[in-house]
Formats: sequence, structure tokens, C-alpha cells
Amino acid sequence: MRKNIVAGNWKMNTTLQEGVALAKGVNEALQNVTANCDVIIGVPFTHLASINGVIDSSKLGLAAENCADQKSGAYTGEVSASMVASTGATYVILGHSERRQYYGETAEILKTKVNLALANNLTPIFCIGEVLEERENGTYFDVVKAQIEESLFELSAEDFGKIVLAYEPVWAIGTGKTATADQAEEIHAFIRGVLATKYGEEVANNTSILYGGSCKPSNAAELFAKPNVDGGLIGGAALDVESFMGIVTAF
Ligand code: PEP
Repeated sequence: MRKNIVAGNWKMNTTLQEGVALAKGVNEALQNVTANCDVIIGVPFTHLASINGVIDSSKLGLAAENCADQKSGAYTGEVSASMVASTGATYVILGHSERRQYYGETAEILKTKVNLALANNLTPIFCIGEVLEERENGTYFDVVKAQIEESLFELSAEDFGKIVLAYEPVWAIGTGKTATADQAEEIHAFIRGVLATKYGEEVANNTSILYGGSCKPSNAAELFAKPNVDGGLIGGAALDVESFMGIVTAF
């Protein structure tokens, strides 16, 4: 059966020293609670190896926030999936709307990144989600379906089974405007149906689909109570131990 997951996405925040302290704080807090979900932190590339050295990997997973669309070579400034894996990270966030919007990541580029991540035994946390206009004009079902189909549907069922999905409506990211639990459930159930049609009920039922977008301790429990919401991808609230743990313990 699918896992419940709460994953932090720190984005471009924290110096190395601040990041190590934050990771230690989350790690320590996890020693004192029984989390009813897997807990992951997604951190900047520069922090991965150091943070891997200070966390208990049996309690806290480590993710990169991106990886390159090339294996290796003359790509100045890029970080490959194998480099990410060599730090001890086991997850990578791919397709975040900020990467799509600001760095021109297309469905095709993301398909390559997913393949490279899987080839390096990294679990992709693959983000999808519509912009406000698409929500308002009712095309959001088609938009999300296309994002999944275009980047993921060439995967075998076995490889698709390694993917974690994160539905993140762009209008809810960092805006303080959360999707209601009913809005999240509606689209998560739709997504699971899309997966079932392509890969069958078993794969669909085993896929964790996280919600992301202004998730906080005050709204997490209501979102996570929905049958098709299997946890959260958390931005702002992941930068503070207490608020992140408030979401972790919402399960
Ligand atoms: C995110 O960017 O993945 C996110 C969900 O951000 P926030 O929680 O800050 O809306």
C-alpha cells in the first residue's frame, strides 16, 4: 500500500551552516515522536553531503531539489543525478513549477531527468499543477493529465511504481492561499484515475500523491484526512522545525 509522506522543499534558502542546524533540529525532533509518515527534507545541492552526515537516514530521507538532464560532461554549473546520489541523497524533486516557470523546464527535459534519476536509484518526487487561469477556466484536469502523460507515461509499470507525485497548484505555492481539502481530493482522485487507466489499479493505489501549496500545521490534518491525499510537499513551513513537525504530526 502507498506510503504517507511529508517532504520539505527548502528552495534557495539557508546557508550551509543554517541548513545543517535546521536538519539537525528536524532529525532531533523526529527522535521524540512516532511519525505516521515518511519524512524527507529537500535541500540545496551545497548542503546535501553535510546534511547526510548529521541525520538518521532511517527516520529522515534526503532529497535534492533538482538534477541535470545530462549524465556528465561539459555542462558548467550543473549537478548530475549520479552526483546527487553520491552525497547519500535518495530522492530528487523534479518538475517543480518554479523550475518549469523560471528555468524553462519542458515536459521533454523532465522526462530525461526522471530517467536519469531512476537510473541512479533516486526516487523522483515529481511535481505537477495548474496556474490560476487554468484553475479558473476549468482546464486544470487536462493540464495535470498532460503533465503526467508527457513526462512519465513512457515509464514501465515497474519504474512508474518508484515515482512519488506532488500535486501543487501554482496559485497556492507561497501565496498563503491553500487549495481546500475538497479541491485537493477532487484532483488527487482524478490523478489516481489517470494512473489506473494507464498502469492499472494496483500501481495507482500504490502511488503516493502529495499535496503542496501553503500547507501549514493549521490545515495539514484536514488535507491529509482525505483518502487520496497521501501527504504534503512543504515549502515555507519546512524552514522552521516547529511548523514542519506540526505538519509531520498531522498524520
Ligand atoms: C513548494 O514550493 O513546493 C511549496 C509547496 O511551497 P509553499 O508550501 O511555501 O507554498
